[in-house]
Amino acid sequence: MFKNQFPFFTNKPEQVYLDSAATTQKHQSVIQAVNDYHCLSSATVHRGAYAIANEATLLYEQARDSTAQLINSPTVEQIVFNSGATESINTIASGLQPHMINGRKILILASEHHANILPWQQLSKRLGLSIEVVNLSAQGQFTQSEYDAFVKQLDTNVAILAMAHVSNALGNIYPVEDICRLARQQRILTVIDGTQAIAHIPVDVENMGCDFYVFSGHKMYAPTGVGVMYGKRDWLDDLLPLRLGGEMITRVSFTDAEYQMSPLKFEGGTPNVAGVIGLGAAAKFLKANILAIQQHEISLFKLLSRGLEKRKGIRLFGNVCACVQHNPEQLGHPNANLALGHSIGLHSFIFNNHHLYDAAALLYQKNIALRVGHHCAMPLMNVLNIAGTMRVSIGCYTDKQDIQRFLHALDTTLAELDENADCLVALKPKQQVNSHCDEVLPIAFNIKQARGWDNQYRQLLLASKALDSLPVEMRTSEYVVFGCESALWIAYYNDQLCAYSQSKIIRGILALLIEKVTQLTVTLAGNRVSDQDNMDAACFDYFAYLTALNLTPFFSVGRRDGIQNAISAIKAKLVKGDN
Ligand code: PLP
Repeated sequence: MFKNQFPFFTNKPEQVYLDSAATTQKHQSVIQAVNDYHCLSSATVHRGAYAIANEATLLYEQARDSTAQLINSPTVEQIVFNSGATESINTIASGLQPHMINGRKILILASEHHANILPWQQLSKRLGLSIEVVNLSAQGQFTQSEYDAFVKQLDTNVAILAMAHVSNALGNIYPVEDICRLARQQRILTVIDGTQAIAHIPVDVENMGCDFYVFSGHKMYAPTGVGVMYGKRDWLDDLLPLRLGGEMITRVSFTDAEYQMSPLKFEGGTPNVAGVIGLGAAAKFLKANILAIQQHEISLFKLLSRGLEKRKGIRLFGNVCACVQHNPEQLGHPNANLALGHSIGLHSFIFNNHHLYDAAALLYQKNIALRVGHHCAMPLMNVLNIAGTMRVSIGCYTDKQDIQRFLHALDTTLAELDENADCLVALKPKQQVNSHCDEVLPIAFNIKQARGWDNQYRQLLLASKALDSLPVEMRTSEYVVFGCESALWIAYYNDQLCAYSQSKIIRGILALLIEKVTQLTVTLAGNRVSDQDNMDAACFDYFAYLTALNLTPFFSVGRRDGIQNAISAIKAKLVKGDN
């Protein structure tokens, strides 16, 4: 519906982009506005008096106006531009003074992004407050029973409630309008992180009555490095600024300064003018289209939900109902907004039988962009007792074909991962490694022969079956290696170097490495080589070996680091002659 308004998809028609919760593609009006600023009125704002400087200032302030309209801010002065939600929350948490705090507790939701946890940890230490967590269900849902428990936590001892309007890890939409109304009755300061809401559902800060509302440009079709902090006037007057420097003062001496009023008080230094102008264009696009976007995303979410629910071996987390379409006439009515159990166009799930990173690696090869991991919500993953999820997130440019292509690619991926071991050639490197010539190292040979990354992955999956698995009881902290986007374990067991990872691809790489180690450390007769030869094996460049097999270019940074760590662990064992 909106896809043709996003030049990215004209340039990359083959790409299925389902990672909009991480960042969105840019709307054509945003690209045009940023480009026009650079080409026609590139100057800094609020200072020069020449024509293009005035023009730049005008465009910058018009963007403030468009942003104020998007969220129904009572005045433009309550819209502060900065680098994004992270900076906004840091500004609030670090700028609160003791007289602004009315209670001893900071309440946060279990699903908060790290950006809405870490600044509060600092504040709690600075002012001696405690942090209390609002729970979700065991499946990460927020329904009537979680809401009822939450309401009970909103007592007079709570100074600050910091929560997302929509969870980035689960898609849950939280009924912030009702919650802010209850929080106001207890004089609780409310900080709402709207980063994942702003591009998907109508936002009305006046109706919500929150004290602060923050979001980032890059999640709403605008550039990276720009964002918004909305605040109620009284709070903005009292809040101390975080960025001290040019433009934010009325008077400065060597020992003292007087600050401007909001918003300039918080916009010290040269701002991201181009980014702000782009954000203004995105705000206009969203203001004009948000109801149509919401309706479009609801229908795609239903399609995605049906597709995932039909497939076996998938466990969904978070709210699963499509979000309700807001009736514009109801906005403003105190009870019009309580919607429990609803989600934006985002699904978060795990596989019963497969490692997330294996599935993701195969999906990436099929041009599906999505995200696996903890999504910067590590405490949530701990509470749910999982390492992470696969997250599929929709934007206004997503269409039916994208969902269908994803579901089809998912089927192929799971079939590849499910492949029956019996029909594969079982590789036993131990038996076959008997030469110092790489050509007869079967795993290395097969990987070298494989053409294309798909086939190489297939070979790694096959190789995973040849790994001498470290027994479960030895998968302990003593032998763990972190950093492969999942833990792995390496140790000698029965005089044999063994390893294990939940990821089949990592198991394949470990099998490949151990095949090489075995070649260098075991004689033709099956005995261990001399200490000197063992040292030589410890000095061998295993990463270069993987590179020569053309494996390394496709490793993510996390995986690359993890493999380096695994190699270091193997080398340490060789040096120690560890048994
Ligand atoms: N809050 C939520 C809910 C998010 O999803 C994100 C980014 O993923 C952030 C905060 C941080 O946003 P930024 O990195 O743009 O500051």
